[in-house]
Amino acid sequence: MNKEFYELIIDYNFVKKYDVKALEKALILPFFEDEIYTSCAVCKKSDIKFAKTCFFNITKFLEFKSEEILFYLSDIEKRIALYNLSLEVVKTNSTQECIEEFLTLLLDFSIEKRASDIHFETHNDYLCIKFRIDGKLKHIINFHKNFYKVISSIIKLKASLDITQYKLALDGRFSKSIQNSIYDFRVSILPTLYGESIVLRILDNKTIDKKLNALEFSSNIFKSLEEISSLTQGLVLVCGPTGSGKTTTLYSLLKSLDYKNKKIITVEEPVEYKIKNICQINIDKKRGLSFNSVLKNILRQDPDIIFIGEIRDSLSLQIAIQASLTGHLVLSTIHSSNALNAISRLLDLKCQNFLLSSTLKYIFYQRLVLKVCPFCNFKGCYKCNYTKYLGRTVIAEVIKIDEVLSSLISKNETFDSFKTYLNTIKFKNILDDAKEKVKKSLTTLDEVYKVLGFEDEV
Ligand SMILES: [Zn+2]
Repeated sequence: MNKEFYELIIDYNFVKKYDVKALEKALILPFFEDEIYTSCAVCKKSDIKFAKTCFFNITKFLEFKSEEILFYLSDIEKRIALYNLSLEVVKTNSTQECIEEFLTLLLDFSIEKRASDIHFETHNDYLCIKFRIDGKLKHIINFHKNFYKVISSIIKLKASLDITQYKLALDGRFSKSIQNSIYDFRVSILPTLYGESIVLRILDNKTIDKKLNALEFSSNIFKSLEEISSLTQGLVLVCGPTGSGKTTTLYSLLKSLDYKNKKIITVEEPVEYKIKNICQINIDKKRGLSFNSVLKNILRQDPDIIFIGEIRDSLSLQIAIQASLTGHLVLSTIHSSNALNAISRLLDLKCQNFLLSSTLKYIFYQRLVLKVCPFCNFKGCYKCNYTKYLGRTVIAEVIKIDEVLSSLISKNETFDSFKTYLNTIKFKNILDDAKEKVKKSLTTLDEVYKVLGFEDEV
C-alpha cells in the first residue's frame, strides 16, 4: 500500500451510511465504493470480522495507523457537511450563499481545532486542506480539484483582492465573526504548478491578550521578566526562531509596562496585533516607510520605551544601543540559537564592546514544546486529535547581564570564559528548564529533544 490518507478523497457520504461509533470501535474507515469494490482503511488492531459482515462487495483493505483512522472518523458531521457543500457548489454552479456557508463552516472548524493557519493546496488531481495546530501541520480533508477555483475566488473576494488574478503573489486580510468573537485572517496566495497555494493566518487577539503570569514561564524567568518593568533604560532581547512565542512574550511585556505615564513606540514589519495605548508603526516599504527611515527618526518622537521588531543589521543595533545609552528602554529580538550566542551575534554586528556592555541588561531565549494531553494522559483521544499532545508550553533561559558579564563583554573575552562564569553562578539553561517541566509530566523528554536538538547544552 503506497497511498497515504492525504492523497485520498474520502467519500464522506459513503462513510455516513455506517454507524460511526461502531466504525470507531472496530477501527475501520470505509472510504470509497464502486460496483465491485469497497475500499477500507484498517490498522493492525482492526476488527476485520466486523468489516466482513458490513460490506458485500469485494473489500480492499489498506493499512494505516490506528490514530489516523480515528482522526478521520472524528468530527464526522462537519466533514460530511463540508464534503456535501463542495459537491453542491461544483455540481450546480452554486450560489454565493452556498460558498459562504462552506467558508463559514471551515473557518469555524479551524477555530474549534485551535488552528493557527489554514492551508489550501492544489495538487495534480485534488485540493487539500491542512490546519496548523500547536505548530504542526495536520491534513484535514481533500476535495475534488474542480472545487479549487471557487475557494480561491471567495477568499480573494473577502480579502478585496483581484479575483481574476491567478499568476501573481497576492496578500490581503479580512475579518470574520466566529462564535461571537472577531477573528482577523491574513491571506497569502502564491501561484503553484497546479493552481495556487493559499494560506490563511488566523490572528486571534486572545492569544496575545495574556498577562505575563499566564505565559507559564518558570519562576526564575518570570521574575526576570517582571524586573524589566522597573528598568528605565537599557537593552532587553528575546531570542528564539519563528514560532517560538517571542511575539506573545514581548506583547505581554509591553502591556505590563506603564503606558499611562510613558510613551511606548513599536516598529514592526508588519503589525500583526493591535495593542491599546501604544503607538505602533507598521513598516510599509511600498509607501516609503522603511525600517531604517523609521529607526533614524524614532528618537525625535520623545519615547520612553521602544520596541524594535528585530535587530537585523549594524544600523538597527547602533540605533538600539544609542537609544539605550540616552535613557530609553529598548526591547527587541535577534536571531540566535541560545541566549549566550546572542552576545556573539551582537558583537558580530560590529558594535563597540564597551557600548554593548553598558547597555545590555537581559537576554531571554525561548522555545515552545507540546504539552501532554490532560484528557487522555498520553493515550490519544478526540481532544488531542489522537496525537497525545494538546497545546504548548514555553521553555526558556535567561542571562541577566551582571557586573562580571558586563566586564567580560567589554574586555571582549572568549566564549569559553562566559561559559565558565555561567557555570559558577549555576546558570539554568533551557534544557534544565525543560527537564523540570518533564518531571512535572507537562511534556516529554522526547518532545524536548525534538525541539532543542541534542547539542543545546551550554
Ligand atoms: Zn488526548
